[in-house]
Amino acid sequence: MSRQTVEFSISAAEKLNETLNAFLQIDREGALQRATEIERSGPTGSLVGVPVAVKDNICVKGMQASCGSKILGDYHPPYNATVIERLIKAGAIIIGKTNCDEFAMGSSNENSAFGPVRNPWDTTRVSGGSSGGSATAVAAGIVPVALGSDTGGSVRQPASLCGVIGLKPTYGRNSRYGLVAFASSLDQIGIFARKVEDVARVLGVIAGHDKYDATTADVPVPDYTASLTGDLKGTRLGFPRTLFGKGLDDEVKRSVESVVDVYRDLGAEIVDVELPTAGYAIAVYYIIATAEASSNLARFDGVRYGFRAEEAHELRQMYRKTREEGFGPEVKRRIMLGTYVLSAGYYDAYYRKAQQVRTLIKNDFLEAFKRCDAIITPTSPTPAFALGEKVDDPLAMYLNDIYTVTANLAGVPGISVPCGLSSERLPIGFQLIGPYWSEPALLKLSHGYEQARPFLERPPISAS
Ligand code: GLN
Repeated sequence: MSRQTVEFSISAAEKLNETLNAFLQIDREGALQRATEIERSGPTGSLVGVPVAVKDNICVKGMQASCGSKILGDYHPPYNATVIERLIKAGAIIIGKTNCDEFAMGSSNENSAFGPVRNPWDTTRVSGGSSGGSATAVAAGIVPVALGSDTGGSVRQPASLCGVIGLKPTYGRNSRYGLVAFASSLDQIGIFARKVEDVARVLGVIAGHDKYDATTADVPVPDYTASLTGDLKGTRLGFPRTLFGKGLDDEVKRSVESVVDVYRDLGAEIVDVELPTAGYAIAVYYIIATAEASSNLARFDGVRYGFRAEEAHELRQMYRKTREEGFGPEVKRRIMLGTYVLSAGYYDAYYRKAQQVRTLIKNDFLEAFKRCDAIITPTSPTPAFALGEKVDDPLAMYLNDIYTVTANLAGVPGISVPCGLSSERLPIGFQLIGPYWSEPALLKLSHGYEQARPFLERPPISAS
């Protein structure tokens, strides 16, 4: 049984990769071998035989970890990320590494050094980023679940653009050990699936304290599937009216507003909330994320990992040439921006100020959550846009993250759930953001919606 399922996933991944470019590595041999072992030893664990795709910035022993970058060359990490250890222990089978924006920087997957991922709903459009490969692998029915990383929306935004569910847990819920760091105070590993129950099951396996990551919290891991009761009576859903204004696509607006009606019908109470500082979130995010990235990416110097430039005759020249040739344009832009905001003369004006406003954004949420159990917003201001449409305009690209970055800045969990198709048959998603450790409530709300309005459409490019 395991072998058959895995064979199906691998064949689908191989077959669809020419069109979608969702995988950077497919481990046919390793995955089938593991499936055989599992069949022989008999099932144990809650994810026995489940094929999983993993973003290429999460370390899996024996496989590559390119982070969508040239600079890592053919680096193969000698260890598993903690989340991978836990998945394997539960019986899951990693079938491959998925394409992503270089070092998870991007909103369209066009920043990968290995070409963009194509959206299975319309291959002339982006899959979203930066975990576009993982979102696509699930949307196209190649795997039931996949892992991604979410620093400012990279799980929720591609989930929305591809028509699947994407969860970013509370900061500290999942271990980041073995996740290649982009912005350490924002990064969290997240989960893609077609069904809420699958997200709940996988979260239950990977979540929890890890002695290798001091930022994981020692908070008990509940049985997340137990919260999927369908009973939403009395739940208070916050509606931030001002976020449904300028810049939001009309169809997305109407679609998400109709979700609010569904929740009302299911017995939830809709309350008006305000997030007065949300308007600063993009600016704050792109200061803090780039500052942390400039520091985290200093380690890629041609000495420790993968790629090293040729024709370099002394050390500094080798560093410079390696980084010049190894990093793509968006990564370089961010390293420069991050170095600038941290520099002695500008630290107070930009970095410190951004940290202060980050606190205000967090306080907005804390204030709002006194009055509601979760807040609803669109996930992305538009459905999937055309490949190439925004590549020359970084600021327009950054605006895609307007609804998602706030959750990372505050450290609270967020989930994107599909709620229909646009007139061009492109998926639309809504987002729920909840207080710290409110994953059970977010999953319960998502599940309630899923039961009432199941999203059963399948993309034209699909394995099943
Ligand atoms: N799109 C955002 C960025 O480019 C978010 C990336 C992420 O969450 N990894 O930084």
